Amino acid sequence: MRTAVIIVAAGRGSRMGGALPKQWQSLAGKPVVAHALAAFAGMQVLLVIHPDDRGLAEGIGVPFVDGGATREASVLAGLRALEGSGVEAVLIHDGARPLVSRALIGRLVAALEEQDGAAPALPVTDALWRGVNGRVAGTVDRAGLFRAQTPQAFRFAPILAAHLAHQGGAADDVEVARAAGLDVAIVEGEENNLKLTYPGDFVRAEAILKGREMDVRIGNGYDVHAFCEGDHVWLCGVNVPHARGLLGHSDADVGMHALTDAIYGALAEGDIGRHFPPSEPQWKGAASHIFLSHAIGLARERGYRLGNCDVTLVCERPKIGPHALAMQAELARIMEVEAGRVSVKATTSERLGFTGREEGIAALATATLVRT
Ligand code: MG
Repeated sequence: MRTAVIIVAAGRGSRMGGALPKQWQSLAGKPVVAHALAAFAGMQVLLVIHPDDRGLAEGIGVPFVDGGATREASVLAGLRALEGSGVEAVLIHDGARPLVSRALIGRLVAALEEQDGAAPALPVTDALWRGVNGRVAGTVDRAGLFRAQTPQAFRFAPILAAHLAHQGGAADDVEVARAAGLDVAIVEGEENNLKLTYPGDFVRAEAILKGREMDVRIGNGYDVHAFCEGDHVWLCGVNVPHARGLLGHSDADVGMHALTDAIYGALAEGDIGRHFPPSEPQWKGAASHIFLSHAIGLARERGYRLGNCDVTLVCERPKIGPHALAMQAELARIMEVEAGRVSVKATTSERLGFTGREEGIAALATATLVRT
């Protein structure tokens, strides 16, 4: 389903104080709204802004439209801007919720496969009081009560119709949807998906972001290709003259395949075969840098950069030593990282096993990804 994201960032944030509206204030070195944009990376995003903030929005680098006087009017402006573009579903998100996670976005997109609408919420766990003049005037039964969050996800046509028909104010888009008779499923929200409302919320959000900086992922990859007739092998992007070739569906670059799988592994994204099925003829004879570029691009999309990687080639021949520096440089070039983050080394297997008998080449790789 073709899904777009509307980030509503047109409010003035009167409770926060400061020279800028809260969604444009700096959080851990970048505007609040830019954090949410990073979570939606790779998706079609439309920012809805206040006309006074056009200069700020231009610095963000995603399409934007002017919102209206109320939140509902701003959402409607966003929906109308997407009308006729072929979008089938839309996630509507508050620009002041910078810590939305990829996992939550994934849950919502999955829920929309079955539902007209889905929105995240958390059950109320604290006791609820009604207060009058600073005194407890009564308690409220919390059973069945939820704290609503965004993004709120809908099929596009029904939510546009609901907004067009809606009169008066609404707390959120779920209220608009329900007024039009749409059924909205509750998806598990996240405690960290807080809405920045008071100055103290910035401190809490910065602390959460600091914790995320510690998010380091590790993946490993292993690959084998058999020798066949030929006069060269591709290893880590370098053409190495040899009395034999390597057999494979692509260019059989065993080292680059192991490294690519290590990156996919760190992302819990399967392996090369999942992203480039061997059953699809367009990958026959493909240069393996396509696979490695895709894996590192996916990592960047998810908010990770390469910490380092280490590739070990296992073979008796060809001798790798004379080519190791060129391999390191080529892998670094493809991944757009400095060479110091890339290691390529080799070992023989003391003439033991299939590599020792020179039936093929094996490769192992490890990669770490660090959240940016
Ligand atoms: Mg392979």
